[in-house]
Amino acid sequence: MTAPPTRSTRRWLLTSNAELRADGVFAWTLPAFAGRLPDGRTYNTCPEASACADLCYARSGTYRFSNVLAAHQRNLLMVLDSPWAWEVAMKRELQHRRYRGAIVRVHDSGDFFSDDYLTRWVRIMNASRQATFYAYTKAVRRVRRIVEPDPPANFRWVYSLGGKEDHLLDLDTERHADVFPSAEAIGAAGYADQSRSDVLAVAGPPKVGIPANNIRHLLKRQAGRSFGELQRARDAQLTAKKGRHHGSTDDRQRVPPSAAG
Ligand code: SF4
Repeated sequence: MTAPPTRSTRRWLLTSNAELRADGVFAWTLPAFAGRLPDGRTYNTCPEASACADLCYARSGTYRFSNVLAAHQRNLLMVLDSPWAWEVAMKRELQHRRYRGAIVRVHDSGDFFSDDYLTRWVRIMNASRQATFYAYTKAVRRVRRIVEPDPPANFRWVYSLGGKEDHLLDLDTERHADVFPSAEAIGAAGYADQSRSDVLAVAGPPKVGIPANNIRHLLKRQAGRSFGELQRARDAQLTAKKGRHHGSTDDRQRVPPSAAG
């Protein structure tokens, strides 16, 4: 006869790490940005990511350890291959007593990568009123379309800079987060440092400043600027390039037919 297991073998969908545990926060995590699953399929869990992708903490360090990445990819596989079963399992887990009054961060890494996935999260939140949910997101258009008209009462979100849709945000009036190279840079830009508690991202002042992770090669790449600044520079470059392209087309069109032929 085999002995009964002495430890629970249950695999929780929501987990915690040292930093989040201090605030009583559980998190759901997908692999960050683009990658390849063991079966060869490719994915992108952050389709609106832009400048942030080159500086992403979740694409380096412990997040790349094979066991950690495999666990995050298993989460993604559930969502991709059995979305209904995943939604049911998540709703069921959230009924557990450990989530009474709990705070859940949707995505330690990854984002609301499709309409279907975000819609499922909205249903999960509406069915799980004993917990409060929050998320950072770069999916500005998707959240505006699907969430903003009728948001779950227990959901708060903050738009985070460094993405393709930054330009849609009004930085004077809308809650948003930016990642700065240092705590001093956060204060100098007039943002509120959330490093005391991650929950301040949705519960504190609306201009949320996050100090960059102390990962040397990423800090070097950030070159003293915030994700928002890097994105604005990238957007300006793209606009200038498009302008040049259109300019050269116009020049071609201005060439008289006789000279062109
Ligand atoms: S959206 Fe977040 S997780 Fe995705 S690439 Fe950007 S920083 Fe990384």
